[in-house]
Amino acid sequence: MSSTPAVAASSEAVGADGVRQPGGEVHAWLPGQNQTVCGLPLSRTRLRRFPHVPFDYASTDVLTEADPVGYICPRCLAATQGRRRQEKSWVRQSPRP
Ligand SMILES: [Zn+2]
Repeated sequence: MSSTPAVAASSEAVGADGVRQPGGEVHAWLPGQNQTVCGLPLSRTRLRRFPHVPFDYASTDVLTEADPVGYICPRCLAATQGRRRQEKSWVRQSPRP
């Protein structure tokens, strides 16, 4: 659990710079593991891996219709933010929607 979380997503979109960007449902994923941070097995779900995209979403992010990302997994958000902001006070997210 030492590497930076990357992104696993249910679909993808190619940005203006030609780089694949995650779309659809987005989860945090630690490169080298075969499941997302919240425990979804990548092999049995249709999640694609984006090792070049760091999972740096925040629960305060606002998704617009122009954004290819439609849903950010709250469990992955809570897990990554809890690790990243341990020193600061943070609002505990409900682990279930
Ligand atoms: Zn997740």
